[in-house]
Amino acid sequence: MKIQEADAKSLLVAQGLPVPAWAVAHTATEARAAAERFLGEGAEKVVIKAQVLVGGRGKAGGVKLAGSADEAERVAQAILDLEIKGIPVRKVLVGPAADIAKEYYLSAVLDRASRRIILMGSAEGGVEIEQVAAERPEAIVTLPTDPLLGLLPFQAREMAFRLGLGAHLKDAVAIATGLVRTMQAYDADLVEINPLAIVREAGADGAVTQRLQCLDAKVNLDDSALYRHPSLEALRDPDEEDPADREAREAGLTFIKLDGTIGCMVNGAGLAMTTMDLVKRAGGEPANFLDIGGGARADKVAAAMRLILADTKVNAILVNIFGGITRGDEVARGLIEARAQQARDVPMVVRIVGTNAAEADVLLREAQFHTADTLDDAAAQAVAASKAAVA
Ligand code: GDP
Ligand code: MN
Repeated sequence: MKIQEADAKSLLVAQGLPVPAWAVAHTATEARAAAERFLGEGAEKVVIKAQVLVGGRGKAGGVKLAGSADEAERVAQAILDLEIKGIPVRKVLVGPAADIAKEYYLSAVLDRASRRIILMGSAEGGVEIEQVAAERPEAIVTLPTDPLLGLLPFQAREMAFRLGLGAHLKDAVAIATGLVRTMQAYDADLVEINPLAIVREAGADGAVTQRLQCLDAKVNLDDSALYRHPSLEALRDPDEEDPADREAREAGLTFIKLDGTIGCMVNGAGLAMTTMDLVKRAGGEPANFLDIGGGARADKVAAAMRLILADTKVNAILVNIFGGITRGDEVARGLIEARAQQARDVPMVVRIVGTNAAEADVLLREAQFHTADTLDDAAAQAVAASKAAVA
């Protein structure tokens, strides 16, 4: 699950990392009020940033500075009118603008290959790290952390020195350690600060000091571990969730959309993968991975059918159910109900074996469904139906 910058910053603050103050505004008027507050507290300028779940907002015109409340209102309105990479901007972050001396990149990422959290840093921050990685891989420092001990102090110091942050050693070590701690505390698979910046600050006596601050934050949470952190569910941004993903989640279905034309409805992840393999072997392309889970009842089957049919590329459906806890007749009833409600007529091939398969067969035949006894046959029929639909 991706979360907005403002929410990611809250998690960093909770772990003790230095982040400048901010407010979230949904309208230009709210942004103006926030700007007035920060300017009144002594900020020379405010920064206004689009809150959308895509990178590269700066380049797309979604990050701007403003020196007065009037300007902040205008700039906020302009950003709220934007669409960034196809996503309409619905809210902005407003905060005191930092006076940046230099930008760095620092992140903790889960590396599945080595099964470790890796700390990544670069003195070439601000720009997209993918670009640095492609053009100057030597400019990126990576350190593997220990699965049990986390980031050890000597590693944090090594990162600081290799990035040229020796003058800010204490802060850099605290931030690097905090990043890895944030990863572990929330079961994130990415915590990224870009830019981590050396910021100039004028004290009350006018003397300028420099310190490190996290100016941007990106946190991706591991969906499979979210159950361990019920409070993080509140950070899900429904505005930016794909409608199909939301329906699947609410119905308790595992649904992953793919590019093919054959919708698959299966119970069990292993069987779903096998079904996709057999569709491919029969010369077709699956439109999705869909696991309706064990013990699915009629309403769940109907929801699965709605999800499949919402994909306009789908021109044939293959239902493959191995009845164990899931009862075949229950699935058959769900299919019949779903077909009565469905908006468009798509050929469907059904294979149900296992618990109550005979009852299912009677129901499906009465309702004039195409059935198949073997999975190979079912896949072949579905692929033929799909090809006939385009011919
Ligand atoms: P992104 O483009 O989506 O990654 O958004 P960022 O928050 O990283 O902002 C992009 C760039 O805008 C940064 O690399 C900075 O150069 C600049 N920027 C962001 N916040 C501030 C700020 O408070 N002050 C100044 N002067 N520049 C900022
Ligand atoms: Mn950034």
